[in-house]
Amino acid sequence: MEQFALEVEDLVMHFGPVRAVDGVTLRVRQGSVVALVGESGSGKSTVGRCIVRLLEPTGGTIRLADADVTHLNRRQLRPHRRDVSIVFQDPAGSLDPRLSVGDIVGEPLRLMRRKDIPAKVSEALRRVGLRPEVANRSPHELSGGQRQRVSIARALISEPRLLVADEPTSALDVSVQAAVLNLLADLQRDLGFACLFITHDLSAVEYLADEVAVMYLGQLVEQGPRARIFGVPAHPYTQALLSAAPVPDPAEQRARKPVLLGDDLPSAIDPPSGCRFHTRCPVAVDKCRTVVPESRVIGEGGHQVACHLVSDDGTGPDVRTVEGATP
Ligand code: SF4
Repeated sequence: MEQFALEVEDLVMHFGPVRAVDGVTLRVRQGSVVALVGESGSGKSTVGRCIVRLLEPTGGTIRLADADVTHLNRRQLRPHRRDVSIVFQDPAGSLDPRLSVGDIVGEPLRLMRRKDIPAKVSEALRRVGLRPEVANRSPHELSGGQRQRVSIARALISEPRLLVADEPTSALDVSVQAAVLNLLADLQRDLGFACLFITHDLSAVEYLADEVAVMYLGQLVEQGPRARIFGVPAHPYTQALLSAAPVPDPAEQRARKPVLLGDDLPSAIDPPSGCRFHTRCPVAVDKCRTVVPESRVIGEGGHQVACHLVSDDGTGPDVRTVEGATP
């Protein structure tokens, strides 16, 4: 039987009238990387916070390594500490400035009453490319990139099965983003943990993710193997995101016409009827305004899409080539 580090079923998270997450189903296999991609405000970070149970979901279930943790309280969650860790976007805000780096990195082991903590802290720091002496420093003496390495060391010291990485590089200086991304990729390969990589930047995950799930306004619109999402994206929103992502080849970059989505993301308080993307979709038809598109499998590896215009074999419009979709 296939082993999953994470299974999220029909997850719902409402904050009063705000429907931040509205029926998300996704799985992460043991040892694999799934990228959860969407614009700011799509609800992707809320999914991450539910998974590590910083939030209690309004509905649905969350299973970590086969255990249902959806409604466990703090005490009941204790035995599941090794199942999941999280790295946040902003290392400055997530590291307690009153503690030394060594205390911060060793904290998960203290909570688990482990022995030999200083030696394990040195090893964890070395693994993320920091010298052991950094353990005696305060986080505010470090650069942004070093602080994020400290967060990664803390998240991985307990050898979790699953790491939730919530925009781990987007608060960092552009010059150090690639190094931190490469570090995460190397660690994932060497240590073999599963990873849910949450990002707004589809291009950042092209070489890291085994699978990609694309989120729009609280729901998944497309998910599947990386090669299919990048090679034959079927949902107009995925196509638009890909058309805007920078490519390394300057000639190809100049030839590109990003699909403009026009208006901002609509409000999650009163999401559009029918397909939630219809207010910005360049190829929307009448049906899109009234009928909610169901998610269907359209290709190998469980490639799924929720769009009325995509047929069962995955063929449909490509907004990157539709007249009027580009400026
Ligand atoms: Fe566009 Fe309609 Fe497909 Fe939604 S269902 S993505 S509005 S074509």
